[in-house]
Amino acid sequence: MNTEEFRRKGCEMIDYIAEFQKSIALRRVTPTVQPGDVRKLLPRNAPQKGEKWDDIIKDIEEIIVPGSVHWKHPHFFAYFPAGCSFPSVLAGMLSNLTGGSVSSWSSNPAATDLEMIVLDWYAKWLGLPQKFMRFSDESKGGGVIQNSTSECTLVNMMSARHLAIQKLKLMNPNDSEGVLLSRLVAYCSEESHSSVEKAAIIALVKMRILETDERFCLRSKILEYAFEEDKKKGLIPFFAIANFGSTSCCACDPLHELGPLCDKYDVWLHVDAAYAGSSLICKEFRYLIKGINYAKSITVNPGKWFLINIDCALMWIEDRRLLTDALVPGSFEVSDFSKEFDFCHWGIPNSRRFRALKIWLVLRYYGKEGMQRYIRNHVGLAKEFENHIRLDGRFDIVNEVNFGLVCFRLKGSNMLNKELLSNLNASGKLHMTASSGKGLYFTRFAVCMQNAISADIMYAVKLVTDFADELLCLH
Ligand SMILES: *Cc1c(COP(=O)(O)O)cnc(C)c1O
Repeated sequence: MNTEEFRRKGCEMIDYIAEFQKSIALRRVTPTVQPGDVRKLLPRNAPQKGEKWDDIIKDIEEIIVPGSVHWKHPHFFAYFPAGCSFPSVLAGMLSNLTGGSVSSWSSNPAATDLEMIVLDWYAKWLGLPQKFMRFSDESKGGGVIQNSTSECTLVNMMSARHLAIQKLKLMNPNDSEGVLLSRLVAYCSEESHSSVEKAAIIALVKMRILETDERFCLRSKILEYAFEEDKKKGLIPFFAIANFGSTSCCACDPLHELGPLCDKYDVWLHVDAAYAGSSLICKEFRYLIKGINYAKSITVNPGKWFLINIDCALMWIEDRRLLTDALVPGSFEVSDFSKEFDFCHWGIPNSRRFRALKIWLVLRYYGKEGMQRYIRNHVGLAKEFENHIRLDGRFDIVNEVNFGLVCFRLKGSNMLNKELLSNLNASGKLHMTASSGKGLYFTRFAVCMQNAISADIMYAVKLVTDFADELLCLH
């Protein structure tokens, strides 16, 4: 493709994306395809000879779009929002301007410096403690962009594991690292995302999944009991994960309770704030994260609730040396400068995309006030949905609606609720997902659309209540 063709085809593609978005409400939210349907339309072998660009693009509309779920549809209320906005789409394109990867500082100086700066910007907007910022007085901390929240949790767990083993070695010089490792225990709650358990599998540490209270929160009594129980067995608690906005129902663990306890037991407290963390840009949500000062690390995913395209998960750590101590291979001579500024030592991949750019563009384009409006709009609309569903009288609201997620269920059996959601989703008129907790199956309604309005919410309320009418009539 030469430069002129790139210019033409690029403009056409922007047009296609713009038109697609403009008319998205006319499409079904979810496709009707069955497993294998899309695959059948695709050749088993890649072409021997190059094809015409227009022929390739034609297949997007004919094969790919009909098999896609439309996350940017105004009636998409599933999972969590997919951070996506036009400035972020453009930034994604621009990130390929110079090509190459952001591994060491010298591989991409501007990208590295920008990453450090935007991570501080974001942390300041959220009101995170100074210790997490790279450029604050005497700070030892800092932030970095990873691919996913899963990786953020994993690398912090690995740092905590390394630290714990180093400490144990001093007291048990005759024990091998393997023996010491076998004594370590990490803790999370039944509300924690599955990626937390996965991290423990990868890091080869025991994980205890603890019960939550009636509000789906992990309480210090339960955690302390587990610490004590394990210590009596000769095990060593070293890492605990708290939720700030759990995936299932957006529960927030009381950090002011868990924090002092983790301090007392010398346990690294990591906060998973993947979705809800971004709400902290508005001061009125900060009471929910009281005790954040006790956290050694936190992860927030602007690829969820901050209009920045996946992949873009952020993490901050109180002591950045603990990260590089754990991740730089011992056989590798690495200078202090390299540990500080080469982000290839701050995570699992060596090569990284230029992702700071999309954060920079989106934060500058919307500004703090624009982002606050966006968050508050979603929270207000979730409240609206909650109020209407409550008024109906036939439903229970399962969670505390603090953010943009409402969990609800028909008063009645799990089967009945499964049927309701399945009927709603099959209609293609809206999309929601389910979760469960304490034995109850419930539906999750997440406000997702960037510029969602009251009419979108009323549309959903009407569909939910109409489908409930029909279902209850049949039963
Ligand atoms: C979505 C989510 C994750 C997983 O994030 P990935 O970026 O997909 O790895 C982890 N924790 C919570 C609380 C989440 O909501």
